[in-house]
Amino acid sequence: MSRVSEIFAKVKKERRKFLLEPEAKTVCNEYKIPITEFKIAKNEAEAIKFAKQIGYPVVLKIVSPNIIHKSDVGGVMVNLKTAKEIRDAYRQILKNVKKHKADAKIVGILVQEMAPKSTEVIVGATKDPQFGPAIMFGLGGIFVEVLKDVSFRVAPITEDEALEMITEVKAYPLLKGYRNIPPTDIDAIVNILLNTSKLVMEHQEIKELDFNPILVYEKGAKTVDARIILE
Ligand code: ADP
Ligand code: MG
Repeated sequence: MSRVSEIFAKVKKERRKFLLEPEAKTVCNEYKIPITEFKIAKNEAEAIKFAKQIGYPVVLKIVSPNIIHKSDVGGVMVNLKTAKEIRDAYRQILKNVKKHKADAKIVGILVQEMAPKSTEVIVGATKDPQFGPAIMFGLGGIFVEVLKDVSFRVAPITEDEALEMITEVKAYPLLKGYRNIPPTDIDAIVNILLNTSKLVMEHQEIKELDFNPILVYEKGAKTVDARIILE
C-alpha cells in the first residue's frame, strides 16, 4: 500500500473525518505539492531541538484530532526566533487549547519552517454528486473570502486548463507583479493544480481539501496549511 493510502486507512480506522496537518502535508509531499518542512514535537525540549534543525524562525501549531481550525483556539504561534520563545509558545498553545476544549486529545506540537511573506493563493477541491471532484483556485484573503474571485474546473484537469484557472481570476494581474509586489512563479501554481487534480482522482475518498494559504514566490511556492476531509 502506498504511503498515502496508509494514511487514509489509518484516519478511517480511527473514525476521524479529517487528516491532521502533518498527515495532510505528508500526502502533499507524496504528490509533489511543496510544503513547509515540519516535525512533530512531544515536549518542549524536542520542539527546541527540531527548531534548530529546521532553522529559525519557526511556527508552532497544535496537532489534535479535535481541532480543525487551529488559530481559532490560539493553537498557532508564528515567527518564533529563540529557544525561550519556543518554550513560551509551546506552553501558551497548550494552555489556549485546554481553555477552549478541555478534553482535546493532543498528538503533539508541530514545529515548522516559517515561510516568508509573499502573495497568497488558495487551491481547493470539492466533490459534486454529478460531476465528481472539481478543483478551485483563487488568491488568498479578501479575494476568495469577500470577493469570491475564484475559478473552478472538473477534475482531471489538463495543463492548459490549470493555466486558464489562474489567468481567469480577476486578481490575476497581481500574480504577474504590480508596483512593490514581485511577479510570482505561475508554473509552480500550475504544477500544484495538476498534482491536486491527480490526488483527488486517485483518492475518491477525499470529500474536500483546501491548501490555504499557499505562499508563492518569484521561484517556487509553499503550502503553509493543508486540510483534507474524507467522505
Ligand atoms: P488554521 O487551522 O487556523 O487555518 P494555519 O495553519 O492556517 O491554521 O495558520 C494560521 C495562519 O498562520 C496562516 O493562515 C498563516 O498566515 C500563518 N502561518 C501558519 N503556518 C505558517 C508558516 N509555516 N509560515 C508562515 N506563516 C504561517
Ligand atoms: Mg489555515
